[in-house]
Amino acid sequence: MSLRPVTVVTGGSRGIGAATCVRLAAAGHDIALGYARDDTAAESTAERVRATGARCVTVRGDTSTECAVERLFDIAGAELGFVTGLVNNAGVTGPLGRLADARTEDLRRIVEVNLLGYLLCCRRAARDMAETGGAIVNVSSAAATLGSPGDYVHYAATKAATDALTLGLAKELGADGIRVNAVAPGIIETDMHAAMGDPDRPARAAAGIPLGRAGLPDEVAGAIAWLLSPEASYTTGAVLRVSGGR
Ligand code: NAP
Repeated sequence: MSLRPVTVVTGGSRGIGAATCVRLAAAGHDIALGYARDDTAAESTAERVRATGARCVTVRGDTSTECAVERLFDIAGAELGFVTGLVNNAGVTGPLGRLADARTEDLRRIVEVNLLGYLLCCRRAARDMAETGGAIVNVSSAAATLGSPGDYVHYAATKAATDALTLGLAKELGADGIRVNAVAPGIIETDMHAAMGDPDRPARAAAGIPLGRAGLPDEVAGAIAWLLSPEASYTTGAVLRVSGGR
């Protein structure tokens, strides 16, 4: 059995997930880096992980499908050893707008990736960690409590579901020695905003954020790394807001 923690990070190739992979590697974790499409970004982040001395496997696959999630954990276990951590991070937003104007396929995609994908990953982690214990961090969003009217109430709804999943699963798995927590980022400077057609969103939002700026991926990664660490040994069922006060 590996003495180093082995952590699966979904959506680890870019943004918050990539910063988390590098941060965890520096803290002594070996990393199974899941991603959907961008092989170049995944390999580039994996190289940064390996530069810390950590081991890293990259696994391409869509977390909204059971077979891809099973494959991700199978490869992590086979290449790195017992999985002790999960960062459930792979998420999508979709076009900005009112629910009345949203397309059914976009609603379905957001629910399938952000909610079903998180459930499939949590289920497999709960099975894998039942003997050994471990820790899960779900990446939620401040949108869960803000509601995001006019932008993406459907996305906010999946993130509120993430908070409920975190609370319930923490209670369900406490006796197995598995801690389950969430981080709820505010607006963070990643590619996600350009992907939903609004690259200037972080800069524009700054005026409405008490700390006066959008956050950086590494500022969220620090919170995730703490929740996974022994320093957080008595913390479970928590949703840690990382939003600059928003
Ligand atoms: P990002 O920069 O757009 O990166 C998304 C990552 O997820 C990429 O690695 C992508 O892989 C992967 N991914 C997307 N769909 C996937 C799927 N179906 N299966 C597997 N991997 C998938 O996103 P981010 O801004 O870092 O967001 C990460 C998480 O933080 C999300 O859950 C998001 O909801 C949450 N969040 C973000 C913000 C923000 O302002 N950025 C705020 C609050 C919460 P490819 O590159 O291969 O496509």
